[in-house]
Amino acid sequence: MSGNLVAIFYARHAGFGAKPAILWNDAPVVDHAGLPATVGRYRAALAALGVRRGDRVMVKTENSPAFIYTYLAVLASGAIFVPMNAAYTAAEVALLIEDAEPALLVHAATTPVPDEAAAPVKRATLEPDGTGSLPDLAATLEPDLTVEPVADGDLAAILFTSGTTGRSKGAMLSHGNLSSNVAALHEAWHFSPDDSILHALPLFHAHGLFVALHLALYNACALVMLPKFNAAEVIARLGRVSVFMGVPTYYARLLADAAFDRAACASIRLFVSGSAPLLPSVFDAFAARTGHRILERYGMTEAVMITSNRYEQAGRIAGTVGFPLPGVSLNIVGAERRPLPPGEVGEIEIRGPNLCAGYWRRPEATAESFHADGCFRTGDTGFKDAEGRVSIVGRSKDLIISGGFNVYPAEVEIPLAEVEGVVDVAVFGVPHPDFGEAVVAAVTVDRAD
Ligand code: AMP
Repeated sequence: MSGNLVAIFYARHAGFGAKPAILWNDAPVVDHAGLPATVGRYRAALAALGVRRGDRVMVKTENSPAFIYTYLAVLASGAIFVPMNAAYTAAEVALLIEDAEPALLVHAATTPVPDEAAAPVKRATLEPDGTGSLPDLAATLEPDLTVEPVADGDLAAILFTSGTTGRSKGAMLSHGNLSSNVAALHEAWHFSPDDSILHALPLFHAHGLFVALHLALYNACALVMLPKFNAAEVIARLGRVSVFMGVPTYYARLLADAAFDRAACASIRLFVSGSAPLLPSVFDAFAARTGHRILERYGMTEAVMITSNRYEQAGRIAGTVGFPLPGVSLNIVGAERRPLPPGEVGEIEIRGPNLCAGYWRRPEATAESFHADGCFRTGDTGFKDAEGRVSIVGRSKDLIISGGFNVYPAEVEIPLAEVEGVVDVAVFGVPHPDFGEAVVAAVTVDRAD
């Protein structure tokens, strides 16, 4: 399957037109037959604002159906979607604007963004409640139902991940990267139009955007969308869906709620966890409470999903991330890239149709992470068992994962070092019962007083 991801989604919706595509505040807001016209109005609005094929559109707002329409409209225009963590500061956004040079910044009025003088770029607003200048403009326009033809290698999105030097790197993901990955997940996790997904992940992150949303759109599922994760809100809705995806923190928080039991998950066929290691103790407690074995998978922004445990209950094993997805090759290597035998721990290298083309305007960072043969150095360490099943044991990259979000020590060290009186600072991760890892800074201060 190749071409524009949006055209791929629409082609798969034939015959499911009357099914709700998105539910928000527990009510259907658009069905699959109506989705192209709604997205088409946003496409027309983007064009009216000057967005052309190949342009970057930066989006900094919270989950909402309009976030999804904007995303699909950017892709349908042949433009490149650049989502940003809603928590980024104005100074961080200014750096990303300088780097990505977007034709348009779509943001919520309440979210921090730099002012016009610091970052001159055309802007439109999109509030978490779905209001704003972009939806207002879209509502006045005739839908543009066309979908720009693209080649598999054409960029669909750039997702910024922070770097070890504190400078963000934009992973360049193509339509082909994303369509091959959703097709592989569809097979691996037995998806069908009978499924409905409860979506509480942030849409600005690869997990929420490329895994949960894409699977729903690829399968004409109903997507029950939440603004964010909240254990009670999730428990109240689990009985209406068949699939839930989350980071390990979500599972620990569900278990902490006494209302979470077997009856609450009666309609569920699949719980998926990823973005950080799922503790075997959480896996076991979850199985004991609900009868469900959580299916753990491994991925990263640069390659979306890489491995998955087998779908069958017995194949969902605690402490492993399973096997490489079809088409993905994964090697464990030692010094000088020597392939290591089963059981030996080394660096994880990958290659496949899911792997991004490199980092936006960062040839030196791209050269550091990609070998000449196209293999990518993940910075994660792990081993394979005799059957080829992968376990992750740590990271060679300097990274803390807190609640599923990546924190690079340099991101915290650089601003801390600027605080008056701070002489030296080192930031590291420590185990945390809820977030998996917490961020701790050791600081030397000048006590001249
Ligand atoms: P991100 O780019 O934010 O998706 O973060 C990717 C990183 O999260 C990977 O390089 C791993 O270090 C980590 N990660 C993702 N999934 C898992 C998992 N199932 N187990 C352990 N670490 C994981």
